[in-house]
Amino acid sequence: MADDLSSSVLDRFNAVVGSVGLVTDQEELDPCLAEWRGLFHGRAPVLVAPANKEEAAEILSICQHERIGVVPQGGNTGLAGGAIPHSTPEFPQILISARRMNRIRDLDAANYTVTAEAGCLLSAVQAAAEEGDRLFPLSLAAEGSCQLGGNISTNAGGTNVLRYGNTRDLVMGLEVVLADGRIIDGLSGLRKDNTGYDLKQLFIGAEGTLGFITAATCKLFPRPRSVATALVAVSDPTAAIELYGEARRALGDQLNAFELIGRVAMDLVLTHIPGTSDPLSGSPDWYVLMELGSAGPDADAVLQAFLSAAIDKGRVQDGVLAQSGMQRDALWRLRHSISEAEKKAGVGIKHDISVPLSAVAQFLERAEALATRRIPDVVVVTFGHLGDGNLHFSLNLPAGTDAATLMKLWDSVSRDVHTVAAELGGSFSAEHGIGTLKRHELQRLADPVALDLMRTIKAALDPAGIMNPGKLFL
Ligand code: FAD
Ligand code: ZN
Repeated sequence: MADDLSSSVLDRFNAVVGSVGLVTDQEELDPCLAEWRGLFHGRAPVLVAPANKEEAAEILSICQHERIGVVPQGGNTGLAGGAIPHSTPEFPQILISARRMNRIRDLDAANYTVTAEAGCLLSAVQAAAEEGDRLFPLSLAAEGSCQLGGNISTNAGGTNVLRYGNTRDLVMGLEVVLADGRIIDGLSGLRKDNTGYDLKQLFIGAEGTLGFITAATCKLFPRPRSVATALVAVSDPTAAIELYGEARRALGDQLNAFELIGRVAMDLVLTHIPGTSDPLSGSPDWYVLMELGSAGPDADAVLQAFLSAAIDKGRVQDGVLAQSGMQRDALWRLRHSISEAEKKAGVGIKHDISVPLSAVAQFLERAEALATRRIPDVVVVTFGHLGDGNLHFSLNLPAGTDAATLMKLWDSVSRDVHTVAAELGGSFSAEHGIGTLKRHELQRLADPVALDLMRTIKAALDPAGIMNPGKLFL
């Protein structure tokens, strides 16, 4: 496989980053060549890990000159195949990683900003903010292994979007190495700056197709003084949405999270994740995990009062309010373990759709009906960030379904599910991006003028087509 690259090119990489920044051992490379769910297996002769932006710039100049594809990889937790390289002898592709760029450069508590290198784990950025008595609100189940550069490149969402926004809303400035080796030094901590095009937006959510992000300045927030977390049972998604409407009205922007968990998703966790148990009795059909963060001391009392009223009105059947940090973690573990439990349970067709909240129930009704029609033994797993209208809607297949059958069904059934979402004014990819997995759907469902503009931007920033080849576009 090293044959994809000449030894003279490897020597030039070595001269830039040294042996400490090069991985050519195939066993060491293997985990970087498989996507988290095992859907994509790639190929690359080398992973290059520059120690700083200057080294990254030199590597990219060599690659542009030699026409070598460059696939940025963060924690490799992405769910669309975007970080997996597909090198061939005709068009070699290398992996580039920011893993050695993992310093918190600055925490400016007065300015409520943190400047961190792209290779920082998300959990490390959260911890740095906390040390400075601030909150970095981006939070998702993969936070112990995904990197800030990956989060920015996928415009990650997670569980606090309804209060704090997507990653895009949290990024104030970026440092990026362009395909030709030039560096944009845009690490601004300014909340106001109307000086021409806001170029950083191009790289946020670009999935590594326009440049290699090396650092970012991100917004911080006050840490809530008290936090209250509850798991409640509701009769159906419509009831959950009504509860959400009331929660927004009653709790305002103190509401951090509002997550939906269906019965099947909960059962998968209880079966496959050791040490989990259902805090509610009676096996409810639907659960909502909600969290409130308050600048005052009384989040528990506020959430308790809200839920008591909701129970009186019959909107909520049962509920439990976490009484300690440990209980809070246990409730979140139920939610955060769903993807892991699904993986352990076997194969399934995954969706990551969003629709307006007013269309969630209709989406579920139509999508479930079409799934059961198309796959008689299907098990429908529904969960997601209900407050954002974003559902992870999975269709689990009978044990023993082989990979070829899975992929064939995946293409045809997910197409129909995406069409339902689109007809309801929704998106076929709310959080996870396009990568290789959803390129056909982007081609099919995106506005043609928008797609044309995207190609124009790609050609302007990466005329040699070296940045993450084969991703986003067909
Ligand atoms: P990778 O997977 O390594 O890369 C993702 C993309 O970014 C690739 O296209 C890659 O080329 C590009 N990239 C990576 N680093 C850079 C860089 N420095 N410069 C330029 N491009 C770069 N996502 C959500 O949005 N919300 C969730 O709630 C969520 N939950 C998840 C739960 C689990 C259990 C798992 C496994 C994944 C989840 N994800 C979620 C998906 C994933 O964690 C996010 O997309 C995450 O932001 C990816 O970060 P990463 O460092 O792993 O990136
Ligand atoms: Zn998600």
